[in-house]
Amino acid sequence: MAKVRASCPDCGDVELDTDQVQVRVCVDDGAGSYAFRCPMCRVAAAKPADARVVHLLVSWGAPLTMWRLPAELDEARHGPPLTHDDLLSFHLELADDRSVPRSSRIDD
Ligand SMILES: [Zn+2]
Repeated sequence: MAKVRASCPDCGDVELDTDQVQVRVCVDDGAGSYAFRCPMCRVAAAKPADARVVHLLVSWGAPLTMWRLPAELDEARHGPPLTHDDLLSFHLELADDRSVPRSSRIDD
């Protein structure tokens, strides 16, 4: 098992076995990344990875996951974009028990 060096946001450079690194490549746009859990502080970290880094990590034994962008990105959108005021109004309505119809509540 090969060792690789990665950078933890809290600890700096750390050394990992390649099977402790997960490589992900998006099928739709080819974007690559890798993720790991720091062996020192256990923080999860993810970093972008170009094709060369993806190839090296996978050839050294890192597991590869291919994923797709969510189908919702292809849905047609109608109406104006949400504003901060829309979001605030929605938040206030969610906080008000009277605004949620009784039949929609899951705690009854
Ligand atoms: Zn760390």
